[in-house]
Amino acid sequence: MTTPSGLPAAALLPFFTYQDQQLTVEGVPLDRLAREHGTPLFVYSQAAMLNALAAYQRGLAGRPHLICYAMKANSSLAILQTLVRAGCGLDIVSGGELERALAAGVEPAKVIFSGVGKTRAEMRQALTVGIGCFNVESRAELDVLDEVARGMGLRAPVSVRVNPNVDAQTHPYISTGLKGNKFGIAHEDVIDTYIHAAACGGLRVVGIDCHIGSQITQTGPYLDAMDRVLDLVQAIEAKGVSIEHIDFGGGLGIDYQGDTPPEADALWAQLLQRMDARGFGDRKIFIEPGRSLVGNAGVCLTEVLYLKPGEHKNFLIVDAAMNDLPRPAMYQAFHRIVPLRQPHPDVDTTTWDVVGPVCESGDWIGRDRALAVQSGDLLAVMSAGAYCMSMASNYNTRGRAAEVLVDGTQATLIRERETAADQFRTERMLPPT
Ligand SMILES: *Cc1c(COP(=O)(O)O)cnc(C)c1O
Repeated sequence: MTTPSGLPAAALLPFFTYQDQQLTVEGVPLDRLAREHGTPLFVYSQAAMLNALAAYQRGLAGRPHLICYAMKANSSLAILQTLVRAGCGLDIVSGGELERALAAGVEPAKVIFSGVGKTRAEMRQALTVGIGCFNVESRAELDVLDEVARGMGLRAPVSVRVNPNVDAQTHPYISTGLKGNKFGIAHEDVIDTYIHAAACGGLRVVGIDCHIGSQITQTGPYLDAMDRVLDLVQAIEAKGVSIEHIDFGGGLGIDYQGDTPPEADALWAQLLQRMDARGFGDRKIFIEPGRSLVGNAGVCLTEVLYLKPGEHKNFLIVDAAMNDLPRPAMYQAFHRIVPLRQPHPDVDTTTWDVVGPVCESGDWIGRDRALAVQSGDLLAVMSAGAYCMSMASNYNTRGRAAEVLVDGTQATLIRERETAADQFRTERMLPPT
């Protein structure tokens, strides 16, 4: 039996399915992984990631292209290896991410460097290894990059990130393509910036890029951004500066709560049609997807510690917290929360606020959730593959969770649970008195 979304009736998300009343990933019971590795525990499906990637690969098949996974979404080394082995380049935003990217085995030429605040040291580091492109976000940054590259006797490959001033119709904190955002160079200044860049001895203009936001669930904003960017390419090339690649950024949304973003291949069918119609069909395309490759490939498993029913609210206190799952506290984001075993034979369904142990009222994971649970039960926080572990902190001296990657019947521990000693390692005690 299938649901309107095309998933089997017992599937919560592709590759996450109830079998014999137990939630499984690629057929592996999550309950078994939680008992083996403890909680909180992130579990990822390799098939889910590769399946998400395949939709982009299909969409761009037959076109010169490079898919650069935006690694800030989840930068665990084994996740990077998975996507790099499948052919991805990486979109980085710091020198630390560059080191991770190289450790994961990416070819430097397939690395692009985004972000508004690159330091001179980070520029030197990236120039030394020979990355593919710097996505520059301001005139001031362009001049510093020119100076750093000339100092090294090199020309830095650059693309200017343009702010197309389109509304991605997503949460204000993750909308980046509107005037008033700190990102990109304003539309009206772009042409002058390119003329300037082309005259800099330390720079080599290779592309143009935009990234309009995140968790975008509609096609319209992408088509608008595409039109604005193509207008600019036309105008820039009319001034004699040629643009080899067009980078459309990332931002495609995922299903957190019944959201229905376009499939990557369907989206690209429309975008390519637009490019072809405007005579840019042969242009090399870069994209920088993050969330849409990994978000629905991961879950966070957590144990119910205490039930705390109250007059106004019932609290379900679990062992995962805002330091593991920061999105609800940061963006009031929604994650589905489901029991690993259901139905529960002898417990009634109650409405709970699911909260963690951290000493903050902002430490909530889900509000007003109907769940039939008792203490000791295990829950899965769904859609936790993106912007969870990579944003995790040690607040309250909580060690970061362990991570497991499932590939068919094989489950591999890809990150050990962080100990308190791991956390003190870089600290120095005062001398004895
Ligand atoms: C974060 C980011 C991305 C990825 O965004 P997703 O919404 O995760 O796809 C791509 N490009 C840039 C410049 C980013 O900052």
